[in-house]
This record gives sequence, structure tokens and C-alpha cells, in this order.
Amino acid sequence: MAAGRLRPPLPRRELAEVALGDAADVDAAVKGARACFESDGWRKLSARQRGRLLAKTADLLEARLDEFARLETAHNGKTLFESKIELGMTVNTLRYYAGWADKIVGDTLPVEGPFFVYTLREPIGVVGAIVPWNFPLNIASWKFAPALAAGCTVVLKPASETPLTALLFAELVQEAGFPAGAFNVVAGGGSTAGAALVRHAAVDKISFTGSTEVGRQIMKMAADTNKRVTLELGGKSPNIVFADADVKAAVRGAQTGIFYGKGEVCAAGSRLLVERSVHDQVVEQLAEGAKKLAIGDPLDKNTRLGALVSKQQRETVLGYIKKGVDEGATLVAGGRPGNHNGKGYFVEATVFDAVQPTMTIAREEIFGPVLAVLSFDGVDEGVSLANQTMYGLAAGIWTKDVQKAHRVARAVRAGTVWINNYNSYDSGAPFGGFKASGFGRDLGREALDGYLETKTVWVGL
Ligand code: NAP
Ligand code: MG
Repeated sequence: MAAGRLRPPLPRRELAEVALGDAADVDAAVKGARACFESDGWRKLSARQRGRLLAKTADLLEARLDEFARLETAHNGKTLFESKIELGMTVNTLRYYAGWADKIVGDTLPVEGPFFVYTLREPIGVVGAIVPWNFPLNIASWKFAPALAAGCTVVLKPASETPLTALLFAELVQEAGFPAGAFNVVAGGGSTAGAALVRHAAVDKISFTGSTEVGRQIMKMAADTNKRVTLELGGKSPNIVFADADVKAAVRGAQTGIFYGKGEVCAAGSRLLVERSVHDQVVEQLAEGAKKLAIGDPLDKNTRLGALVSKQQRETVLGYIKKGVDEGATLVAGGRPGNHNGKGYFVEATVFDAVQPTMTIAREEIFGPVLAVLSFDGVDEGVSLANQTMYGLAAGIWTKDVQKAHRVARAVRAGTVWINNYNSYDSGAPFGGFKASGFGRDLGREALDGYLETKTVWVGL
């Protein structure tokens, strides 16, 4: 377990020194996880006891929620308001899977012949979890909570930008009473520690959330050891506003869809598709709202637009904004870097109108507070535009017509569809992608399947 030295979070100061784990550290962590997985101590722990340990961890996290939220804000730049919501979700996720631990069951199967056949659901083994920087501990919990509930042991590699909450969380796991080796954290680089985890022969499964590009590399690397892989990747999600929608609610949804988490959200509703007859009204209200969304100190509880995660990410986002202008889209709000007392890697809440489907800002994931507005006429064009992407993570639909809402929900190729809401999540609702947004699911009962093997037992009668 790599150790970090934590200092009180202050903007634009050194926050902590973190040991940079390498392949040798990963090997030590995997050996620890393997030894724990095969130990009597872990094997004989009942499912109910595993559930209790997860529930205890949830209580410990809840008791220190403010401290964790401040730390999440300090290394990521998201607002304290958002960090608190997400840490609350992490507590819920731990509790949700604590409840599942003793409800994982097999089947009895009515086969032909003199046999009694049943299935056992057994833990897959050692799980390597590799996560991004945008929801650091929350997305990690989408992996380690179901994995531990299923009886797996875990090695977690947090993103280089945001290792602090994962390291601090490891202390809570220890305090809750999990046996040594059940949960391990190695902070380190993707191409070093991350790749070592993916290649390690004693790791049975990799659960990854991150970019589509790295996801593809991981899939290739994992092939050499026949590892199971779950990939939650990027998105360019359409948020479709029909003319018969409650326009005010749709505009609010479009705003949270792109500006929550400064748009560094895999499911961000970054393509707003607006039916032509309400287009002017929607764009006007959006631009007005975006201009009001002030940049501020992320640690101030009233701030709603935080700082981007890093200087590099800000440069990437500003590069996309320049491309939008160069390719002929109309900038109607934002577009500039911002600062708070001269500090922070901020970007203003930005809205582009008159975006064409072929433009870069309509096709590529920007991962910043930048909205592309496109227009359409009628359901067929709306759906076809929505599906005109290699991604398929999420989609939003705004209409008061119940039939249309359900019809479009079926026609859109995406893992999550939000009707008259956007960016809603719950531990009990599966989340993941179609197409280049990956495969497998986090959250809900379905996530457990990713950490279980099915064993079929034939008894001769
Ligand atoms: P990323 O660059 O793909 O990195 C994700 C994680 O993979 C990090 O821990 C990274 O380590 C590690 N990594 C990088 N190269 C690796 C390699 N060769 N082998 C093994 N691990 C490697 O993604 P990001 O920039 O952190 O996050 C943004 C992306 O994540 C966006 O594309 C976004 O859409 C996606 N995302 C998807 C979801 C979802 O649920 N579908 C949720 C959130 C984010 P380092 O940090 O050291 O590079
Ligand atoms: Mg990266």
C-alpha cells in the first residue's frame, strides 16, 4: 500500500507527496491480494460477514465525509457541493453492495436425465480496478464495492492526478476490519503501474473506467493472460429537446447535463439536439444561464462551477473551443479561460450554436464545460442525429409526449436514457456503454455478474 503525506488542502499549493508505485509495487500488492483471496481467513468469512465489513466501511466514510469531500475537491478542482454529493453516493454504493453480499445465489436446473444440476456463483478472484480522475473515489467504489461483496480481492490504481482519496480510504478499509490484502491501493502512472496490473498473471479481471483509447490498449494487453475485462469508456451523449418539451425544465437539464462537474463527466450531455421550432428560445435561455454560472473557489460551498483538473486539461478544452470557432460554429456564451483571484485552471461555461454534425466539437469528447447545439426537424432526424456517433454511453429526451419518449428511448443506442431528467444516478441502476463507450456494467445487480464465475455442478442420481 503506497503511503501519502497529506497536508491541509489549499488552492494551487502542493497538497501531498505520494509514492509513485511501479511494477514491483503492483506485484507486491497483487501477491497480497492473491494470498488473501486464497487464505482460509477470507474463504471462511461468510457472505454476511463480508456484507457487514462493507457496511462498517460505509459508516466510517460517512463519519468523515466532509474531510473526504474537501480532499476530493483539493485534488480534482470540482466544487465542494459536488464532492459532497459524490461522497454521499459512495457511501450509498458501499451500503447497496453490503446488502447484496449474502444474496448472491445460483440456480437449480431441470436437465434431461438422472441428474441433479445446480450452479454456484463464485468470486472471479483478484480484481484490478483502474479509474480516472473525474469522480475519483466514487467511480472506484463502483468497482471495489461489488467486487468485495462478491468475495473478490482488489488492487486499485487511482488516476495520477487524483490518488489522495483512494489512499485515505484504504485506512478506513483497514479500520473496518477487512483482512490484510483484501483491498490494496497502488498510486502510480498508467503506462507503468496500470500496465503492470493489466499484464499480471495473478490478476483475474480488470475493471477499467477511462478513455476509449486506453480502454482499447487494455483490452489488447489483457488478451495475453485471458483476463476478463469490463470497460467504461468515453461518450458524446445526445440530449434531445423536442418542441413539445417543458422548455424551462429542458434548459435546466441541458445545463446540469454539461456543466455539472465542469463537463469532465463521461455521460455529459455534450450534444444538445434541439427541434428547430424551439431552437431560438432554448439557445437564448441557455446562453443567459451559462453567463450566470460564475467561476469561484471550489472550496466555497456556494460555487457551482469548479476548476478543471489540470493545466493540460484546460489546454485541451481551450483547443476544442478554438476549433469550434475556426470550423464556423457560433459562440453564444463563454469561450474563455477564467480565474479566481488569479488562480485555478478554469474555463467559462461555454455554449456553441449552429454546430454541424461534421464539426470536431460535435464528434469528439471534449471533457470540459463546452456545449454544442445542433438543430433538427422531427423525430426521425432527431434519432438519426443522436445515433450519429461512435459512442453510446447516455442520452437525454425532453418531451411531454409519453409515446414519443418511450419510442425514442428504444431507438437511441446508449446504455442509459434519461427522460425529462439528466445525469441521474443510483447505486441500484446499472451504468455503462454501447458501442465505443465500452461493455459490462457498473452499479446495480448487473455489476455483480462482472465479479462472479458460474460453476455448474452435475450430481448423478
Ligand atoms: P485515461 O487517460 O484513460 O486514464 C484512466 C486510468 O487509466 C488512469 O488511472 C490512468 O492512469 C490509467 N492508464 C492510462 N494508461 C494506461 C495503460 N496503458 N495501462 C493501464 N492503465 C492506464 O482517462 P482519464 O484521462 O483519466 O479520464 C477521462 C476519460 O475517462 C474520458 O474519456 C471519460 O469519458 C472517461 N470516463 C468514462 C466513464 C464511464 O463510466 N464510462 C466515467 C468517467 C470517465 P494515469 O492517470 O496515470 O494516466
Ligand atoms: Mg489520461
